[in-house]
Amino acid sequence: MKSQKCPDSQSSYSRRRFLRASQATVAALSAVPMLSTATEVLAATVSSGSAHEHPDYYDKLGVTKLINAAGTYTELTSAVMPPPVRAAVTQAALHPVHLEELQQKAGAYIAEKLKAEGCCISCGASSAITLATAASVMAANNCHPLDIPSLIGTPEFPKNEVVVQKIHRYEYDVAMQLCGIKIVDVVTLDDYEQALGLNTVMTNYFNAADAVGISREDWIAVAHNKGVPCHLDAAADMPPISNLWKYTGMGFDMVSFSGGKDIRGPQNAGLLLGKKEYTDLAQRNLCPADSVGRGMKVAKEQIVGMVAAVDWLLTQTDEGMEKESRERMAVIIGMVKDIPSVQTSIMVPELANHVPHLMINFDPDVIGASARELQVRLATAIPCIELNPHTGSTSPSQGVPAGPNALVVTTFLLNPGEEFIVGRQIRKVLKDPKSVGTYPPPRSSTAT
Ligand SMILES: *Cc1c(COP(=O)(O)O)cnc(C)c1O
Repeated sequence: MKSQKCPDSQSSYSRRRFLRASQATVAALSAVPMLSTATEVLAATVSSGSAHEHPDYYDKLGVTKLINAAGTYTELTSAVMPPPVRAAVTQAALHPVHLEELQQKAGAYIAEKLKAEGCCISCGASSAITLATAASVMAANNCHPLDIPSLIGTPEFPKNEVVVQKIHRYEYDVAMQLCGIKIVDVVTLDDYEQALGLNTVMTNYFNAADAVGISREDWIAVAHNKGVPCHLDAAADMPPISNLWKYTGMGFDMVSFSGGKDIRGPQNAGLLLGKKEYTDLAQRNLCPADSVGRGMKVAKEQIVGMVAAVDWLLTQTDEGMEKESRERMAVIIGMVKDIPSVQTSIMVPELANHVPHLMINFDPDVIGASARELQVRLATAIPCIELNPHTGSTSPSQGVPAGPNALVVTTFLLNPGEEFIVGRQIRKVLKDPKSVGTYPPPRSSTAT
């Protein structure tokens, strides 16, 4: 889950387990006719006219379709693409094109829309980080831009250090390490100035880190003073929409965004925005080149989908998207507010996942179950509803307060009408926990 978005490894682990468990449950129940009203509403709201002409491969494979009241979590396949993006992907599938021509023209188009000098469309933020590192290794080692950089990670490229604040070390370090670089940790501004040396190829800054440490402004100024480029990982940090140009505008040479999170593009797409010198070098490392990005191919459908997602996003407003989330929350609040002990509130994390989060607090003694139990029950029922993983969390994380007795719900990724299903199921589980799903989840045969 993204990821950076999982509150702790313990819950990440149990979450993966219960996801598998819920799939097993639904597979076991697949022979039962689905007659619940909620399921009918789901079918009515999300089925497309073409459902009868083509098989639904999720159904054919017995894969559980879920309602995403969680957020843009990687394990939940993140967002669904809005209709114009889906249409663009389908259209792109109809014709072969020259891959490099498409990469270049699509990149130039997005760069212009997002006020950057250059843009490389990657297969996600993680690959954008790898490509940014590869570009920086090439630049620092005076590689000719037209060389095919097949030797990245070998002694042919002796300059290979990336400087990072110790508090910004994270699971995506591996995206840089794929390029054979060494990470040099720093704590104070003095350390930082010392660490930037002849072997430094770039710096990395984790935008949504819980601790800031050295400010973005100081970070950039000191690196630029020594001629070192700065990369910023802002993968999940849109909205607001203006963040797509804020950080390049502030001087970061390269900024990575996930295409499949709130930008609502294909899940395996992402953006490296920034100075053209670096985004062009990043592009040189991407498939079809025989470089570190050879295995990070972005197919024509995903490239076009990413362009269409940016076009779609720029027709939206932050206020409009937030209003839609809040209207859906009002539906859910209306359906649960009369339940004894229930109290609702809405909060918006400052930076990453800057979207409304609905906190449904309750007294577990009155309701007869814990928040975690209700979360599992909702995810093991039909339809399967995934709540935000901060549900029942005992400590604050990623801008969301602790809520040991709270269900945490986001509504921005719901398909139209699903707020009624979510409201109805939450009402049901709060009124009579045992009437929904199973707890603990059945053991999955695939559990390791
Ligand atoms: C999600 C995320 C990534 C990875 O994004 P992908 O598009 O899934 O590759 C990288 N960094 C941070 C901080 C993230 O939240």
